[in-house]
Amino acid sequence: MTGSGNDALIVDADCHISSSRFDGLALTASDLIGHMDQAGVDKALIWLKPPYDKNIDPENRAIHDAVKAHPGRFLGFGWANPRLGLDHAKDMVKRCYEEYGLLGIKFNGAQDDYVIDDEEVAMPAIEYAARFGKPLAFHIGGDFPENTHPYRLGRIARRFPEVKFILIHIGGASFPPLDRSSIETAKANPNISVIGSAVHERAIMAAIDVLGAERVCFGSDMPFFLMHARLAMYRALLEGRPQAEINAILGDNIRRIAGDLPADEASAGASAGAR
Ligand SMILES: [Zn+2]
Repeated sequence: MTGSGNDALIVDADCHISSSRFDGLALTASDLIGHMDQAGVDKALIWLKPPYDKNIDPENRAIHDAVKAHPGRFLGFGWANPRLGLDHAKDMVKRCYEEYGLLGIKFNGAQDDYVIDDEEVAMPAIEYAARFGKPLAFHIGGDFPENTHPYRLGRIARRFPEVKFILIHIGGASFPPLDRSSIETAKANPNISVIGSAVHERAIMAAIDVLGAERVCFGSDMPFFLMHARLAMYRALLEGRPQAEINAILGDNIRRIAGDLPADEASAGASAGAR
């Protein structure tokens, strides 16, 4: 486990930003920085918030621009939507990595309406993204259980055992949550870590108990949930645990998974990540 000191960084592993305030919830990068400073969050993993017109390229570009404009504050992930066609998804993945320098790709079968392990619609795009060897994040929620059931992510994770997968929400995002099958799936697949965002606190505690502190990450799902309140909830849940576990869940884990570590810690993180 990394991060034994008190200088560990707080990293919110699930935040959405937008190129502009195009709806009542949309946050720009500088809006999010304001919330982070208020909440005492050092860094945030950011991905886009899908616009109504499905034109995701400007939103992915906004992630890149945010990372450049605020050095050291953001871990940027791209977004691909296989429903816009395989060529579009491949172009988006390639641009996110090669032009925008992002750290991973997120797939959201709920908002973009596809079954995440569909052999025709989704798998070819996932297979293409997996070739880059960077982490792949999936919305796994009770809001669209057929599209995003955790067992489907287990199937994907077994097909690409060398890739790190991030199971976002522990099956939450709605009621009833799929937390039990999410935790079972991560337990059975060591290349899956979970972000406990938009889910109830018992699911987060169960994930820590079953998977251990090294595979659970704090995330708020800002702007859908409030960062400062969710961080306070995590601090309450983690009270009394060893500092190294708290540091892991509140920041070190997602930094290791996303590859956001100084060189001297990266080698230790790589061996921990290969468990
Ligand atoms: Zn989210």
